[in-house]
Amino acid sequence: MKSSVNSALENREYEIAVIGGGHAGCEAALASARLGFKTVMFTVSMASIAMMPCNPSIGGTSKGHLVKEIDALGGEMGKVIDRSFIQSKVLNRSKGPAVRSLRAQADKEKYAALMRRTLQEQENLSIVQTEITDLLTKDGKIIGCRSISGMTYHVKSVIICAGTYLKSRCVYGEVSLETGPNGLMAANHLSESLISLGAPLRRFKTGTPARISKGSIDFSKMEEQYGDTPVEPFSFTTDKAAIQREQGLCWLTYTNERTHTLIRDNLHRSPLFSGMIEGTGPRYCPSIEDKIVKFPDKTRHQVFIEPEGEDTDEMYIGGMSSSLPEDVQIEMYRSVPGLENAHIVRNAYAIEYDCIDARWLRPSLEAKTVKGLFCAGQINGSSGYEEAAAQGLVAGINAALSLKGKEPLILDRSTAYIGVLIDDLVTKDNREPYRMMTSRAEYRLLLRQDNADLRLTDMGYEVGLIDEERHNKLLEKRRLMETEIARLKEVKITPNKKTQEFLEAHNSPLLKTGVFLSELLTRQDLSYDLLADLDPERKALPEDVVEEVEISLKYAGYIERQKKQVEDFRKLESKRIPEEINYNEITNLRLEARQKLEKFRPANIGQASRISGVTPADISVLIIFMKKYGSERDKEH
Ligand SMILES: Cc1cc2nc3c(=O)[nH]c(=O)nc-3n(C[C@H](O)[C@H](O)[C@H](O)COP(=O)(O)OP(=O)(O)OC[C@H]3O[C@@H](n4cnc5c(N)ncnc54)[C@H](O)[C@@H]3O)c2cc1C
Repeated sequence: MKSSVNSALENREYEIAVIGGGHAGCEAALASARLGFKTVMFTVSMASIAMMPCNPSIGGTSKGHLVKEIDALGGEMGKVIDRSFIQSKVLNRSKGPAVRSLRAQADKEKYAALMRRTLQEQENLSIVQTEITDLLTKDGKIIGCRSISGMTYHVKSVIICAGTYLKSRCVYGEVSLETGPNGLMAANHLSESLISLGAPLRRFKTGTPARISKGSIDFSKMEEQYGDTPVEPFSFTTDKAAIQREQGLCWLTYTNERTHTLIRDNLHRSPLFSGMIEGTGPRYCPSIEDKIVKFPDKTRHQVFIEPEGEDTDEMYIGGMSSSLPEDVQIEMYRSVPGLENAHIVRNAYAIEYDCIDARWLRPSLEAKTVKGLFCAGQINGSSGYEEAAAQGLVAGINAALSLKGKEPLILDRSTAYIGVLIDDLVTKDNREPYRMMTSRAEYRLLLRQDNADLRLTDMGYEVGLIDEERHNKLLEKRRLMETEIARLKEVKITPNKKTQEFLEAHNSPLLKTGVFLSELLTRQDLSYDLLADLDPERKALPEDVVEEVEISLKYAGYIERQKKQVEDFRKLESKRIPEEINYNEITNLRLEARQKLEKFRPANIGQASRISGVTPADISVLIIFMKKYGSERDKEH
């Protein structure tokens, strides 16, 4: 959008501009400001800062891992949810450590208020409520952005975290509103500017359920859902004792045949099925209409009733997002046990919005064709607060590192869920909103939530987001852990009377010969705490160290095997592909592979092997060519 330039409308105060105050924008802005750069964060509405337009929770399977990793790197989300949760529990506690994941019900308003205050108190950071309409470039490099008022902000780097606001449209029944979530203003101009820079745009959609007033719900017809005691914190810096509190409740009820029939009878009025919605929705977060159509034999679907906050009576109806007309919504919700007299405060709706095909970005989240321009969050085709925050943090770090002339922080698939997330976004053809899941992480036994600090806090320290004191605590944790593992591998247990009685008492097989304590700990029926009876020399260790020692020894075999797989993976990842390579010169490469590689220009062989349509045979051809190419180039120099 061209507006007449007036010198008074020239701002040169900032170095980095973050477009968006959502979960991605908050982490990006805090990271770049904390790394010393004068940062401005734009948002179309202050009310959208750290807003949760959908489920009132942070974490859950694999998403809890992302939050732990954000915290381990020096991000903010974990700290804020530890101070604004209503209920908290570890999911999959009975399963293996790889899938154990923390999930907390959030007080949405409190979460947003705490994050807003953190932003407002952050040195080097300013917030401006305005809509950014244009991106300004010169010679393939970002030089600034312009707002709807014509104010030009001259900056060295821009991070776009525009979420679900670009040309957003909210739809339910025949109602179609050109607004962002919760009726906030949409951002209707930036898409054109992105297109003019060559960004491939897509139209995605997501949806949310109605909010129902608590007073109109009959909880006696539902199952109460409790939090864990004690509560586990998300942040490695949170004092666990300090956050123990009385927790709120959630409730579980179910849809039934009456609900399903009602929906089936009105599918023709659903914008999803009438074609009114063009955007593609998330397979793993389907609307109730989608569920009824996709799983016709299911007689009931779970419905979780969750508080939106402690100072509001609005309840979130989890599992029933929809875009059906209002009259159908009223009947649909009232067909659910406990909701017979439901008073709908906010209708369910679907939202569609512009986002980019993130294969336009490097693994650093920088645009391949515009230096200094980064994208993070829902705009990259992901879905979820945690996925957005993770990308925002990485983009904020990399914008700062790039201005410092340093190599970007690239987390690969064997290092972090964040690495899996970003690699999948910038390498794969994601035709629907991408949601993180443990099944996406091939090395998930190594990427547990409990060891996120051991995997990432050194990197957070190196980039400058983790301070000395916190880093020393991590080094001490690692030292205690390694010392104890080494000790347990040296303490010999003999099959004497005391040992055999202990094993008998715990229904564990008796010993025939002497073993080391570390070997006993691999037994599923024995734990580190239990073995204290056979280990009088042991010193008291912090809970988190004990957890690491136990998991490292109990799953030692699996962990070793996965580490071997990672070695092979890293060999391919380390084979960088020269930027200037011309795939069309590689004549014995199949045409489809040549076209795909030329279009997406992967950074290394590992990434090339994950591009759909590129076969292992193509990869061998490419590796041979690179060897020849490398040696010829060496001859030239
Ligand atoms: C109705 C709805 C339902 C959802 N359902 C789910 C779900 O079921 N499961 C799930 O995982 N996720 C869901 N989400 C997605 C979740 O909300 C997002 O993943 C998350 O909020 C994305 O964070 P973000 O930071 O990328 O963007 P957002 O939180 O959307 O924030 C974007 C920010 O950018 C600002 N902005 C945008 N354009 C401009 C501009 N041009 N100038 C200035 N500021 C701008 C906005 O003001 C806002 O501050 C849903 C979202 C919505 C809206």
